Amino acid sequence: MATETKLELRELGNTGLKLSCVGFGASPLGNVFGLVSEEDAVASVREAFRLGINYFDTSPYYGGTLSEKVLGKALQALGVPRNQYIVSTKCGRYSEGFDFSAERVIRTLDESLARLQLDYVDILQCHDIEFGSLDQIVNETIPALKKLKESGKVRFIGITGLPLGIFTYVLDRVPPGSVDVILSYCHYGINDSTLEDLLPYLKSKGVGVISASPLAMGLLTESGPPEWHPALPELKSACQAAAAHCKEKGKNISKLALQYSLSNKEISSVLIGMNSIKQVEENVAAAMELVTAGKDDETFLEIEAILKPVKNQTWPSGIQQS
Ligand code: NAD
Repeated sequence: MATETKLELRELGNTGLKLSCVGFGASPLGNVFGLVSEEDAVASVREAFRLGINYFDTSPYYGGTLSEKVLGKALQALGVPRNQYIVSTKCGRYSEGFDFSAERVIRTLDESLARLQLDYVDILQCHDIEFGSLDQIVNETIPALKKLKESGKVRFIGITGLPLGIFTYVLDRVPPGSVDVILSYCHYGINDSTLEDLLPYLKSKGVGVISASPLAMGLLTESGPPEWHPALPELKSACQAAAAHCKEKGKNISKLALQYSLSNKEISSVLIGMNSIKQVEENVAAAMELVTAGKDDETFLEIEAILKPVKNQTWPSGIQQS
């Protein structure tokens, strides 16, 4: 692959940030999908940056703070000026549970910054807000994050979670400009594309959109999802059948799935979890190929047909369903 070839950058809402269309999801660095050595983790981040990935996402929840620590080490090892990369982390979800109180999110940011070896994060996101009180997010958490923004330790504020209704609930209730970004996951991929309906609303609010888990957290891979994956058995087996179909044709389902998610430019960055140089190179190559050759529509239509019975099937998440 030519080293001068760089990934497309896309504007993130009104933030002025330009994110690489492929973002580096660092949950695998917390051993969420199986053991990853620190050496592989650091090498993956280095290769990602070299190939034009400038956006890295983590959380204190991933691997009980391990992902933040390893990502911090890897970013430090790049030895490049801080403004060359964009980092988001999260608050409110920890290995010991949820706490969206103002006091905790203010304290947690300093802990995250220490682990990441950074003076500021570009985006701080309330992590999986459907597990908390959405009114607390509106009335307490976001006002606390605004103070952190004023202090300069955080540049932009985000919210994340699975049910799409949480985003409209919060955005309809906070003053305009309070939430800069939403991070949605498992809702803009081949098997579930329901985020699409929300995009015009998010645009009208001036909110940037990050879409995570284009491989549906491992469902759209040849090796299949991890044990803890929450999908129903019928969704798992349909994805397995689609992956097998691709393999029979000499195609890779993960490549097609990533390309599908990247096709919508209203989405600023597609966050994909990576744990090896090989995965980084494959995913960047998939994005480059999409630009030069387009996607394989024939195989894509065949996969869509296999997944049709489970299209847009999701799973419950959180203490309220919006
Ligand atoms: P994903 O759909 O990106 O799948 C990740 C899995 O796919 C990992 O096992 C990874 O090793 C594997 N993989 C990556 N590239 C591959 C390739 N080319 N071929 C085969 N397998 C490949 O799911 P994810 O990691 O959960 O999501 C991406 C990132 O988005 C996370 O790391 C995290 O940063 C973020 N995220 C955030 C939230 C949230 O805030 N609530 C939720 C989900 C994800």
